[in-house]
Amino acid sequence: APEAAGGAIGKSSIPGVKRIIAVASGKGGVGKSTVAANLAIALSARGLKVGLCDCDLYGPSVAQMFGTTERPNANENDEIIPIEAHGLKLMSMGFLLEDKSPVIVRGPMATRYTQQFLRQVAWGELDVLVLDLPPGTGDIQLTIVQTVAVDGAIIVTTPQEVALIDARKAVAMFAKVNVPILGLIENMAWFECDAGKRYYLFGEEGGVREAEDMNVPLLAQIPIDMPTGRGGDNGKPVALTDPKKNKVSAAFHAMVAD
Ligand code: ADP
Repeated sequence: APEAAGGAIGKSSIPGVKRIIAVASGKGGVGKSTVAANLAIALSARGLKVGLCDCDLYGPSVAQMFGTTERPNANENDEIIPIEAHGLKLMSMGFLLEDKSPVIVRGPMATRYTQQFLRQVAWGELDVLVLDLPPGTGDIQLTIVQTVAVDGAIIVTTPQEVALIDARKAVAMFAKVNVPILGLIENMAWFECDAGKRYYLFGEEGGVREAEDMNVPLLAQIPIDMPTGRGGDNGKPVALTDPKKNKVSAAFHAMVAD
């Protein structure tokens, strides 16, 4: 494929944005948006200026995850002013929709929206912009890595073979376009109850083995956790919880500790 040749055509940084990190997954439903939101909050808790761009046009979740139904305005330069919540700057298709109607656009329009989210949003000065990518390895993902200089990608997977197969494809895609893989996160790694007994609902250590096989760092194993799931639904991502009181929150804060 022509895209495979390093992908450096026309790609540049976003003015004012120091680092761009993409959170990706091969498969949907593995917790990619959950990771992106909580990672962004953990980075912000370290005093960094952080933005979160929901590039998942067809399944935007940032509005729900941050509990905001605000609609963005434009500034005098016709740039969209991002919504602010929990100290982060946010952009999502969810903010632009009148109701919860599905986004029905074909590939070329989706590409244009995506470019707009990156280029025509007044992100301002940011230390880190986290991109919540749509699942998979298609057009939109390629557009993103070819539009902006992504500094690194984090791949989210569950321990299930079906998810691991697709995670492998995501890693291969980023390698082709020369985006460094920062590491793999194994989400839904286990469920803990009965005083600490772990149940490996989706298989044991699938992500750990996969990271070893692909020679990429394993950044974290995140258990299935009720406050984590609920936090995503009620606008308060779990990383806002005191890390001493929740292990998943602790895992996200530990991930950005250095
Ligand atoms: P994706 O972005 O990969 O489609 P989401 O982040 O939307 O996945 O997660 C799918 C669902 O699973 C959401 O309802 C989310 O709150 C929930 N979820 C994700 N990770 C966890 C976890 N570690 N524990 C409990 N629920 C989780």
